[in-house]
Amino acid sequence: MSWLDDSDDLDGDFEDFDESSIRSRPNPKANRPRTKRRPAHEDAQIGRVLGVDRGRYSVMLDEGTETERMVTTTRARDLKRMQIVTGDQARVVGDVSGDDGTLGRIVGIVERSSLLRRSADDTDQVERVIVANADQMLIVVAAADPEPRARLVDRYLVAALDAGVRPLLVVTKTDLADPTAFLAHFDGLGLEVFTSAQDVMPIDRIGAALVGHSTVFVGHSGVGKSTLVNALVPSAGRATGHVNQVTGRGRHTSSSTVSLRYESALGTGWVIDTPGVRSFGLGHVDPANILAAFTELAAIAENCPRGCTHLADAPDCALIEAAERGELSETGLARLDSLQRLLQTFADKAENTPGR
Ligand code: GDP
Ligand code: ZN
Repeated sequence: MSWLDDSDDLDGDFEDFDESSIRSRPNPKANRPRTKRRPAHEDAQIGRVLGVDRGRYSVMLDEGTETERMVTTTRARDLKRMQIVTGDQARVVGDVSGDDGTLGRIVGIVERSSLLRRSADDTDQVERVIVANADQMLIVVAAADPEPRARLVDRYLVAALDAGVRPLLVVTKTDLADPTAFLAHFDGLGLEVFTSAQDVMPIDRIGAALVGHSTVFVGHSGVGKSTLVNALVPSAGRATGHVNQVTGRGRHTSSSTVSLRYESALGTGWVIDTPGVRSFGLGHVDPANILAAFTELAAIAENCPRGCTHLADAPDCALIEAAERGELSETGLARLDSLQRLLQTFADKAENTPGR
């Protein structure tokens, strides 16, 4: 069973959650007598979940210290179907030595600072948590082959801004096409963009942006994301080219989401690679989170009518009125344009979703 099957049909639990908190809740069904009293897990160690494979979670304990080690763990039965994903800070008890053949046990996770979910499409009511605690999203697009699509990048941006995660953009394959016209779409966003110069990827500059952060890498298949991950983390060994030929079924280790450590003279950071994740679900997006990412426009929008969509046809929208009165700078106008496009991405999604 893959981690995806494992985490079926359950919403992420934002709460600090562990066995003891479950037991302290009155539960009429819990009348089965317990033969053994379990410890309260005050002695649990907290570590980073790097990956999940067939019900086994790899957790790094004592990260960055001399005793740093990987511990293979299972999940406590009491956690029921709560999802535990790459990037989670897990509480681990039992054998935490990390010695061969030993198994620790996850009894809870620490409250998440951010959460990215995926869904098959916007109408998919089943959203799955895929990455916890990321603070950056590095969006990889190719200048050509496959052709870059601004709408797809917009969707990533919406998911990032909604989750409070800082977006970065990398353009690969600039040897095949000039990305200038494509990049003009994002002028108003103040997005940090990395492109190759003389066909050489600025690996060191991208790496510098990763130090001290937990960065989830996203991109359509074929854009060169694995190539980039391997250049940044040489030990990663992510399969490039035609992934499915590796196993014939796509059940290779590189088909699951994992955390990889970026290391350089500047420091370390975490790269979270998400193969096979085409898009993030926009089912839970709150447009207010998108507006909030445009601080100066959000201030003007305080004067909008209640429930204003800020879209081009919104009546009495303070942003549109400010633009019409010439009160926005050129940059401000470009940013309003970007904001409206992202809000439109969300609105299109809502229209396509039955029951919303
Ligand atoms: P992924 O599916 O996004 O992980 O893409 P891969 O890293 O597997 O790359 C897909 C294909 O694009 C491979 O054949 C790579 O060799 C090729 N590729 C990656 N980066 C570049 C680039 O900068 N220029 C060109 N021309 N090809 C590239
Ligand atoms: Zn408005």
